[in-house]
Amino acid sequence: MTGQVIAKARNEGRTVLTEVESKQLLSQAGINVVETRLATSKEEAVSLSGELGFPVVLKIASADIVHKSDAGGVKLGLENAQAVGQAYDDITAAARQKYPKAKILGVAVQKMARPGVEVIIGMSKDDQFGPVLMFGLGGVLVEVLKDVSFRLVPLAKRDAAEMVRGIKGYPLLEGYRGGEAVKISYLENLLVKVSDFVEKNPEVKELDLNPIFAYSDGALAVDARVILEKSQK
Ligand code: ADP
Ligand code: MG
Repeated sequence: MTGQVIAKARNEGRTVLTEVESKQLLSQAGINVVETRLATSKEEAVSLSGELGFPVVLKIASADIVHKSDAGGVKLGLENAQAVGQAYDDITAAARQKYPKAKILGVAVQKMARPGVEVIIGMSKDDQFGPVLMFGLGGVLVEVLKDVSFRLVPLAKRDAAEMVRGIKGYPLLEGYRGGEAVKISYLENLLVKVSDFVEKNPEVKELDLNPIFAYSDGALAVDARVILEKSQK
């Protein structure tokens, strides 16, 4: 299955996997992602929403659009069929206007996840050291304060423990001022799983799980992006 997703992208001459494809790959590697399906029409978006259960989230599905929210391409908390239909029209119209050349596949339909502490896991490749994993807190903390930690792949459990504790915002994960204390061991295991995935898939050039919602009993990635190396390795 991993091979199939990558082969399809290669056949189409793409190195960018869509959110749906990226989540498929990661889910096969045992990484917990929110169930996400591609709808290629408004009717399909409505019926998939019913199957997944409301409330749902709709996002633009296109390998050519990397920052979906910037393109008006994300609608959260849709409570019924009518809201889903409207969101389908709004999202595809906004994307066509902002990116007239993008190939739009439709929309990704997924369940609205319960809020948690937002964290991110990323992987990029260093010319000298090879794959490097990054861990940080989501949103403003990573964008403005660059509060992140790095370790080389492959990651041992001990490295993962150090990574999680190595960020300044670590107290937020322990439950700050009544916030939810998240399950640290789950995040450590998740980092090790991502490291294993990267090791087994040298064709993956970049990986972004942003954000992951961390909870007291686990964690769930709600957005994912995988980029492949230009040529097969
Ligand atoms: P972008 O391409 O802009 O990064 P995201 O898929 O990350 O788009 O969605 C933007 C934001 O919407 C996320 O940072 C998250 O806060 C929220 N979000 C995305 N998917 C879900 C979901 N399934 N459930 C709840 N919130 C979500
Ligand atoms: Mg995102």
